Amino acid sequence: MNDCLFCKIAAGEIPSTKIYEDEFVYAFADIEPQAPFHAIIIPREHICCANAITAENSALIGKVFEAVAKIAKQENLENGYRVVNNCGVDGGQTVKHIHFHLLARRNLQWPPG
Ligand code: AMP
Ligand code: ZN
Repeated sequence: MNDCLFCKIAAGEIPSTKIYEDEFVYAFADIEPQAPFHAIIIPREHICCANAITAENSALIGKVFEAVAKIAKQENLENGYRVVNNCGVDGGQTVKHIHFHLLARRNLQWPPG
């Protein structure tokens, strides 16, 4: 029994606002956006977090970044964007299915200045 929220979203069992999908990747709008554009990009396959990336599954992370480039084009993010992955407790990871935040349409410069 898979109780993972993002597995259920990728499978269409829990509704989401789709931004992009292909065979390997699903991307949807974050319900609590931290920027005017805030997508969550996940591999369809369940990987808990960055700690679980191996030689066997790392190509899926490449697929995620192929999706980043496609979404940037699709959404006209010509001013740029930030991609964030949170891992574990100190990283602030709340959903234990690896995901990448794609944030855009505001100045995300960090550190500020
Ligand atoms: P993190 O804190 O890195 O684990 O990010 C989890 C993200 O998932 C947060 O930004 C949440 O707002 C987002 N989130 C949680 N549940 C949903 C949902 N049902 N649909 C869309 N985004 C969600
Ligand atoms: Zn999952």
